[in-house]
Amino acid sequence: MASIQYYNLSQKRGDLIVIRRVTFRLYPKPAALKNLLYARRLHKDLYNAGIANRKTQYERFGRSVNYLEQQNSLPAFKQVWPEYKELGSHTLQATLKRVDLAYQSFLKGLRGKPKFKSIRHYSGWTYPDIAGWKVHSTGDNGYLELRDLKVSIQMRGKARTWGTPTTCTIVYRNGKWYASITVECTPVRETGDGVIGVDFGVYHAIAMSDGTIIDSPKFLAKTQSKIRKASKQKRRKRAPNFKKKVKGSKRWKKATRKVGKLHTKVANQRQDWVHKVASQIVSSNSMVATEKLNLKGMTRKAKKGSKRKRQKTGLNRSMLDVGIGKLTDAINYKLQEAGGFLVKVPTLTVKPSQTCPNCHHQKKKDLSERIHKCSQCGYECDRDVAASLVMVSYALGTSAFNRGSEISTSVPQETGGWKQIWEKKRQKPTVQCNNGG
Ligand SMILES: [Zn+2]
Repeated sequence: MASIQYYNLSQKRGDLIVIRRVTFRLYPKPAALKNLLYARRLHKDLYNAGIANRKTQYERFGRSVNYLEQQNSLPAFKQVWPEYKELGSHTLQATLKRVDLAYQSFLKGLRGKPKFKSIRHYSGWTYPDIAGWKVHSTGDNGYLELRDLKVSIQMRGKARTWGTPTTCTIVYRNGKWYASITVECTPVRETGDGVIGVDFGVYHAIAMSDGTIIDSPKFLAKTQSKIRKASKQKRRKRAPNFKKKVKGSKRWKKATRKVGKLHTKVANQRQDWVHKVASQIVSSNSMVATEKLNLKGMTRKAKKGSKRKRQKTGLNRSMLDVGIGKLTDAINYKLQEAGGFLVKVPTLTVKPSQTCPNCHHQKKKDLSERIHKCSQCGYECDRDVAASLVMVSYALGTSAFNRGSEISTSVPQETGGWKQIWEKKRQKPTVQCNNGG
């Protein structure tokens, strides 16, 4: 069984198997398109039924329904709604899993209460294993066969590294269809033997220990303002109102498409930027030291009535625009592919932004102080570059810091993922096995 090992220190490159996601654009013929739309509608109805079930059970009887209970009721559900028999049973389970994930993040306080979804806001469905679909491709264009819908669809796109397909998610977004396929593969990537510290900040998006400073890309802000304009245009058109039985106007639909297109553009631009920067860093460095970020705290909304609100929203904006979390993820997995590793510097014990990289003298800086100037040894450089230099010295162990637990390892969490669900299911039949022991 393959698994992703984060912060992998082993230098054995031969048996590294990772999971990568490749997205292809789908070009369905009219007949196939009809089936896709039909299946999407059925999955949407199942999703809403899952929500309704949990809601009524909780509100009327005060009991909470879990995923397994819903999954076990699927056969009975199919007796009542025979059209679901045509769809792959694992895809139905995956849709119920979406309900479960929505509730789990709601219960953790990460998002609002799950709501019923309209077809307009329903993206698609997932084939959680290799059953029911087949991809005829070597990672460069090809065909996707969906057995439950009896369709074969042309797809376009290219994978950097191709491998064994494991799951497939069908996505409908802004009038276009996509297949997001995960593959198990052994990636190949070149890297150098450099060591670098990378500091993510608010003033500069990225400051590196070799003195490189990358600011948050301007084009994102540009597209962002275009989005604001287009949304304003959209608000002035007649939107649909189902309670008053008002249909959306043609102009509203057109404006909606425009906004959607711009959102896609921003997402693409950001992803492009993230991957370019990450591969640039990894191409010459096999050891990267970064700060363990508390993104949640950094991007949290300011309290109501707070004077810092303005300041904080600006801060949040630039943080989110850059997509620091995505960038660290990208650096991390590219390092794995190249056989390098990531050192996460514990901010609280090392204090990179308060420490002198030359003599390790610690002194708290004000947010407005852009230049590091040591009062002890007189060392002077950019504030963020100084922080990244401290991270490097920590990572190399050349510093005065205590290197007790320098490399953090990931602890598996209860995420409600497929693997964990299946492990739980496997544990179930224990009664019969007991007489042997
Ligand atoms: Zn100093």
